Amino acid sequence: MKEGCFMYLEKMNMNEFNEVKKRIKGVIIPIGSTEAHGPHCPYGTDYLIPNEIAKRIGEINDSLMVVPTINYGASWDLGHFPGTISLSSETLTKIVTEVGKDLIKWDLDNIIILNGHGGNNPAIRIASQHLADNKAKVLVVNWWLDYQQEILKICQSKGHAGEDETSAVLAIDSSLVNMDLAPTNKNTPIGKVYTSEIAYSVLENAITGDATKASKEKGLAMFEMVTDKVNEQIKYFLEGKYVK
Ligand SMILES: [Zn+2]
Repeated sequence: MKEGCFMYLEKMNMNEFNEVKKRIKGVIIPIGSTEAHGPHCPYGTDYLIPNEIAKRIGEINDSLMVVPTINYGASWDLGHFPGTISLSSETLTKIVTEVGKDLIKWDLDNIIILNGHGGNNPAIRIASQHLADNKAKVLVVNWWLDYQQEILKICQSKGHAGEDETSAVLAIDSSLVNMDLAPTNKNTPIGKVYTSEIAYSVLENAITGDATKASKEKGLAMFEMVTDKVNEQIKYFLEGKYVK
């Protein structure tokens, strides 16, 4: 068996899987998107962050296995910005459901979906219901939503490719961010409007919020906080405690 308590399915062989399977209590599926994150942040922002959270949780919790990340998401809102590669919510629902069903097939029915992208949530919700109907237990973690109060003690603002996400990427690998190009978008939408042009008016520069305030230190503080919180959430979940 390889060193370290953290277990990535993609790095183990079949014998190791059979051993690990007896020992672990839950499986993490990281999921994100491949979409424009302003002129300053990378397309992988929304999966790089859940990957980092999963890695950090693995360093302190040896009861989990991580399966390969779902790197594409439902990015309809950002679909007009160059380079975005989006799945429909229908397709993503199928992907999450089918990945989950195969985990159930191998008796891995405590499933933790570590999501990094808001557009994925309709699909994740439906897939989680399908999996629950197939006897799985599913915990969905949206780090930027579930812990927004705590995040706002570290960052002054939140947003797509905004201060929080940009800080997180700076903490993962500062060479992936160009802070010289970090923009601000102070548009306040009147509500949730759907038109084919909506991205241009609301999501100017493919960002929301104020990326200029981002820093590596803020990102590191967020990862520390989120790792502890999510790890605690997972412990409750694995013990079958769904209320505090
Ligand atoms: Zn994002």
